[in-house]
Amino acid sequence: QTSLLEIDGLSVTYRTPRGAIEAVRDVSLSVAPGETVAIVGESGSGKSTTVHAVIRLLPDAARIASGAIRFGDADLATASRSALRTVRGRRIGFVPQDPTVSLNPVKRIGEQVAEVLRVHGLAGRRDAAERAVEALERAGLPDAALRARQYPHELSGGMRQRVLIAIAIVADPELIIADEPTSALDVTVQRQILDHLDHLKRERGSSLLLITHDLGVAGDRADRIVVMSQGEIVEEGTPEQVLLTPQHPYTRQLIAAAPSLNARREPITSSERPPLVLQGRAGDPFAVRETADGARHPAGPVLEVEGLVKEFPLPGSGGAVQRAVDGVGFRIE
Ligand code: ATP
Ligand code: MG
Repeated sequence: QTSLLEIDGLSVTYRTPRGAIEAVRDVSLSVAPGETVAIVGESGSGKSTTVHAVIRLLPDAARIASGAIRFGDADLATASRSALRTVRGRRIGFVPQDPTVSLNPVKRIGEQVAEVLRVHGLAGRRDAAERAVEALERAGLPDAALRARQYPHELSGGMRQRVLIAIAIVADPELIIADEPTSALDVTVQRQILDHLDHLKRERGSSLLLITHDLGVAGDRADRIVVMSQGEIVEEGTPEQVLLTPQHPYTRQLIAAAPSLNARREPITSSERPPLVLQGRAGDPFAVRETADGARHPAGPVLEVEGLVKEFPLPGSGGAVQRAVDGVGFRIE
């Protein structure tokens, strides 16, 4: 399978008054068509810098020191500004980390969404306005037609986040990059936004590169998790691999600190979470044998259990399981 996005040996440095900072060091990762890849890591680990390099939204103080960023047949690391403009917004939609600075305060939100289509010559004025409302609806903004005429300050934080999503998806990009799209929002709204991104992605078969500091969120959403620490990738794998058998001490630390993993790591009882796997042979405790005088006796042992295995879904792990009972056998006469 050829990847849609392939970052190969990317290093990015920032010039600062106190010298150069190597914010991203030799990072390689790929995103396949239709795939969701999550980048997790603590604040300052280089997550935003990595994706800013992809869409070349790095500040002037930053420099791509080395590496290639292949997207389709273009190398975004060296592409010209004009080549980048045809990709950004149109083939790659970006949901930025900070909604407050990302919207124009003096422009109606509908216009800000429509602008993407107009800039890329994908629609005329009227058509663009219609499709902007449609994108706002798809992004889950209630009363989109009315809201489209409002200004950012008239919307709540959650609604502004949805406007940013509308901007990212209006041109039906092949790749959506969402940089910590939820950290400023409360947990319920966070979940809705992420569910929504998931839905949009499936609906159009696009890929999603999702940045979060929360491994639980990554486990729920991603096909693959990339763990970054201090500018480098320290671990990478499926949610099962990363969450159940973390190899790097830093990943273990992140797991311990993931609120969405730990909030639900309460004792599980089988009535709450039905077992995924029930292996082995369980005798029927109610089987009876009737004797000639009409008396009923248990048929054989009351209960016989052999090699019982019970596994439960591990919250936040994207399908991984925890083995609660491993090969238990007993017999009650
Ligand atoms: P967060 O989770 O807080 O968003 P992050 O993983 O996105 O963090 P980056 O913003 O990519 O981290 O920052 C990586 C490193 O680069 C940090 O050490 C940060 O201080 C540094 N850095 C980021 N932006 C700049 C800048 N404009 N000038 C200088 N250094 C910067
Ligand atoms: Mg960031």
